[in-house]
Amino acid sequence: MYLKAYLLMKSKLLKIGKQYFEGITSLIFPHFCVVCGSELNQKTEHLCFSCEEELHYTYFEKYEDYSIADQVFWGRLNIENVFALLYYEAGTSTKKILHHIKYSEGVDLAHFMGKMLARKLKNNPKFADIEVLLPVPIHSKKKFSRGYNQSLLIAKGVSEELGIPILDVLYRKRHDKSQTRKSKEERYENVKDKFALKKGALLGVKHVMIIDDVLTTGATLEFAARAVFEDDKNVKVSLGTLAVAH
Ligand SMILES: [Zn+2]
Repeated sequence: MYLKAYLLMKSKLLKIGKQYFEGITSLIFPHFCVVCGSELNQKTEHLCFSCEEELHYTYFEKYEDYSIADQVFWGRLNIENVFALLYYEAGTSTKKILHHIKYSEGVDLAHFMGKMLARKLKNNPKFADIEVLLPVPIHSKKKFSRGYNQSLLIAKGVSEELGIPILDVLYRKRHDKSQTRKSKEERYENVKDKFALKKGALLGVKHVMIIDDVLTTGATLEFAARAVFEDDKNVKVSLGTLAVAH
């Protein structure tokens, strides 16, 4: 009897202690919505409730037919399915999220968004037989300056939610200069033939999903997919990104 009361009291105290600690932590390290900047409560991560509600979701998971993301690759190469979580436009919440992932402390946010992406993938049987996730690699120099590969972090979120393993087997052949100031054609040329896959890494795998942060011209993802087909031309390749330009 005494023991039970003691244990109950102990667990209550621990709970109060934990809440107190979380309260103190959020006082010392308050966290804010990455879109609107409002201060978040202890239970909310990265996005406030209304910004999360109002993200520019594509709802591609509800499509039975093709989407504009699939169309990007028509006439270029045979991609199984393409999924993007959000529409990407200048000045939108999507842009703020991607910018935060790329240029700020985006580690937790990339992971958080990856999980959100995965919860949508669950709702479409087209993605049910994916066996491995392949993050688009970042060049080591960029990784050094940023400290992380955002595609790998997104993939980790997807992996955790879906229970699909990540194979970090795509790699870049050589360094390219920052792409932001280049034209569409230059960007395309710049990534041409730049990926390769570790030999035999996909042995026996039938369906992979390549993960990247954003789909714009599709050049990066196209060449990542080509590297996979070079290793095994019969493997099915799907693509998953946080956002698609439209
Ligand atoms: Zn907000």
